[in-house]
Amino acid sequence: MVKNKNKIKEDSLVVKYNGRIQVDKKRSIGFNKKIIADKDISVSIIAPFYNEAKSNVIDIFFYNLIPAMEKITKDFEIICVDDGSKDNTYLRLLEYAKKDNRIKIVKFSRNFGKEIALAAGFKYASKKCAIPMDADLQDPIELLPVMIKEWQYGHKAVLAKRFSRSEGLLKRIGCNLFYKCIRIFSNIDIPSNTGDFRLVDRQLIDEFNKLCEKQRYIRGLWAWIGFEYQLVYFDRPDRIAGNPSQSWRKLFELASNAIFSFTNMPLRFWFVIGSLISFIAFIFGLWIIINTLIYGSSVRGYPSLMVTILFFGGVQLISIGVLGEYIGRIYTETKDRPLFIVECEDNFNTKENKKKR
Ligand code: UDP
Ligand code: MG
Repeated sequence: MVKNKNKIKEDSLVVKYNGRIQVDKKRSIGFNKKIIADKDISVSIIAPFYNEAKSNVIDIFFYNLIPAMEKITKDFEIICVDDGSKDNTYLRLLEYAKKDNRIKIVKFSRNFGKEIALAAGFKYASKKCAIPMDADLQDPIELLPVMIKEWQYGHKAVLAKRFSRSEGLLKRIGCNLFYKCIRIFSNIDIPSNTGDFRLVDRQLIDEFNKLCEKQRYIRGLWAWIGFEYQLVYFDRPDRIAGNPSQSWRKLFELASNAIFSFTNMPLRFWFVIGSLISFIAFIFGLWIIINTLIYGSSVRGYPSLMVTILFFGGVQLISIGVLGEYIGRIYTETKDRPLFIVECEDNFNTKENKKKR
């Protein structure tokens, strides 16, 4: 009877990915599949957790991930970053970590956000490559063997790219607009429809860990670091359980981090607008002088004066706001606070991990 009950419970934990997976063939050109194919597989999985204990996300995550990784290699670790959860996410993770020392936990003192949680994961990662993935399995486990194979063939990074976005219309439009702006105004190439889900080689991880800026947009940083990459296309499934905790405010913060830390476009934009308005004002001034010389002056023109004053007042306030945004960022960077505060760590007592930090 008990056995039967367990079976039903376990069945409910199985997650199967039904979407498509497709490797970008064009990017494989020049990679000799035989030469590096015997490279040792050694992988750090990095997963951020924030208030995930309300549903069975944590159980589903480990239940599906561990056997899948065991099939690929014996040499792997799962670095779980508890991003200051207010529920008992940490205790739930600890239950698993106690049973399996490949599961390692970094617990933050408060919620620092997913970007910082991933940055911490990369600092703690000790294997030859790392794969950050969401705990809610929107980054499907079925992609892991495909990505690892591409890495073995010699690609320094393997990015998971969505065929299309399954989110609501508003979020889709926002995301498309965002990527377009970034592509036009920054001089780095952030591949569209790719997220944090990717495989990165040790060389990239080491370069990434040298970066010390506090306001981060990780995808942009990877693009800034460079190196060639492979693409694996997939259909992004919905969350397995629970509710997303990335609020609109957090997404907006992320987008503004991306824009303000990767482009000087907003500053340049106001320079162009300012120059244009000055030019128009100059022509307008000339016209007034000529007009007065020919027809004499009159006191008319109050409305146009008000409109002009208000308009320029607005333009100046906006441009001061943009300057303020950059100055605020400089202020945050100069304070040089640590990126995150760790409350405790579990299962990091092995020699290789101590050596790393
Ligand atoms: N997450 C986090 N800190 C946060 C918000 C989210 O570590 O402040 C984690 C969350 O537990 C999940 C991943 O980041 O593993 C993605 O979050 P979510 O599913 O809420 O957002 P979305 O899928 O909409 O990006
Ligand atoms: Mg999610």
